[in-house]
Amino acid sequence: MKRKLKRFLIFILISFGVLYLSKNDILSIKDLLFDGNKISLNEKDNLVNGNNINTNNYANTNDYLLLVNKNHGLSKNYKPENLTIPNIKFTNLVNNEEKHVSEVIIKPLENLVNEAKNEGIILLGNSGYRSYNSQKNLFNNRVKSQGLENAESYVAKPGFSEHQTGLCIDITNENEFLIQGTKEGDWLENNCHRFGFIIRYPLGKEDITGIEYEPWHIRYVGEEAAKYIYENKITLEEYLEK
Ligand SMILES: [Zn+2]
Repeated sequence: MKRKLKRFLIFILISFGVLYLSKNDILSIKDLLFDGNKISLNEKDNLVNGNNINTNNYANTNDYLLLVNKNHGLSKNYKPENLTIPNIKFTNLVNNEEKHVSEVIIKPLENLVNEAKNEGIILLGNSGYRSYNSQKNLFNNRVKSQGLENAESYVAKPGFSEHQTGLCIDITNENEFLIQGTKEGDWLENNCHRFGFIIRYPLGKEDITGIEYEPWHIRYVGEEAAKYIYENKITLEEYLEK
């Protein structure tokens, strides 16, 4: 009798567990296992998953400030609305998905690239939007080729890449080698804020962003925030905490 009661209690416990997890469909069980860490999901993400999408919300200035980093992830269902290909030149290897960015950054991005050209700087698009699944493949391929430790150091885990927001893009030059000290890198660093972009992972801020210096990765945050972040030499994390 006691054993039956015990079995019954275990059954009840498991049932509640399954019910709870299926209700909490923002993250699947696999996702929880995948990361293991306690993470917070962005509020907008909850809205998307709650089928409560207000398309006008996306034009709200605050949405430009969506934070994605090691501690703030996006669900695998998160996809920006109206992904569009900007009218700029891309490198040859970029795939069709990565040519897309969120519609809200199309004009600022085109203006940035055109203004650079006027000043004699040729910038090319390299990688914009990446879906959860693309990031997952990228991560898994890196694990296969370089090992888990290397992958964890250099490739964001699926759900934790800013590229899933559609608000950022990797820029390169005609040599496809945009690093610190190149004229294209210097131009981006000193001018991208004029168009509402920031160098998202600056040199010397690796302990805050959790990412190595990336002079090619620009992120749209709106002109006001970009100007403030540039002038005060801070990161998006620091800006959001101020
Ligand atoms: Zn990037």
